Amino acid sequence: MQNQVPVSQNRPVTGRFAPSPSGRLHLGNLACSLLAWLSAKSQGGRIVLRIEDLDAERCPRVYADLLEQDLAWLGLTWDEGGSTGGAHAPYYQSECGDIYTQSYRKLEQRGLVYPCFCSRSQLHAASAPHTSDGNVIYPGTCRGLTPEEIAEKRKKKAPAYRLMVPDEEITFTDGCMGTHTENLLRDCGDFYLRRADGVFAYQLAVVVDDARMGVTEVVRGADLLSSTARQLYLYRLLGLQPPRFAHCPLLLAADGRRLSKRDGDQSLENLRAKYTAPEIIGKLAYAYGLQPEPAPRTPESLVPDFAWTKVPKQDICLPEGLF
Ligand code: GLU
Repeated sequence: MQNQVPVSQNRPVTGRFAPSPSGRLHLGNLACSLLAWLSAKSQGGRIVLRIEDLDAERCPRVYADLLEQDLAWLGLTWDEGGSTGGAHAPYYQSECGDIYTQSYRKLEQRGLVYPCFCSRSQLHAASAPHTSDGNVIYPGTCRGLTPEEIAEKRKKKAPAYRLMVPDEEITFTDGCMGTHTENLLRDCGDFYLRRADGVFAYQLAVVVDDARMGVTEVVRGADLLSSTARQLYLYRLLGLQPPRFAHCPLLLAADGRRLSKRDGDQSLENLRAKYTAPEIIGKLAYAYGLQPEPAPRTPESLVPDFAWTKVPKQDICLPEGLF
């Protein structure tokens, strides 16, 4: 069945920063934040900041604080959320467990959630079906367990919980990447809502939070494009209005590897020691096709000419010597 998802209408444009600060901000995340900011501001919209620290051990508060300082230094301001300001402050996902529980219970009451006892090694076995980008497709191993089997397995192991997905295609139009279609059952399988230690999964938390914060457009890295169908399905089940999505191309190192925290020289700590804020913003704007030269720019100065049509769809190799 084709399921064309409606775009959100008649709500004030609200974009967001939704980082998971497990280290210092780096160029890859910064590029997405810049595009999210420019997209919202070029439509007269606002930005909310939410710290996605569900895995609180991996995301100590010190990095969230540094991230706020880095964004502010760069001129990427937010209107609500974070540790300061507005209706949604402070906003740390690690403090929102009760909110996620309410939505989780709704799904549970509809009989859509089941316990999964599969181990990591079982899931990642070489014989497990994989998607083209290397993700494991859950084959539904624990979907049909009887109450007796569940009771027996519980004696040995605390389960994680998965959402049952239908054999259905979900199609949406991405603001950067164009039309994208995914069949939840075939391309992903039943997915986690909650880990065995009780921590809610990103997919559930992100939907509940974007809806709560009135987010109308989600701009994030293309690595999350394939999460969107799952999230749209959750919006539908929970009766929430979905935002528009724009997935921006990822930044690759000059040798073609994806930039990550391991590229320490691309962390804001190092970049701040070498460049001014307008120099960093200007170089990124150049890499993303938003200006013809890597000249220093403030974020505001890029707003009038911002257009998604200028942003490439392919991952971007950082030109040698740009940073
Ligand atoms: N917190 C996620 C990350 O930093 C991003 C989630 C999102 O933008 O939906 O990778």
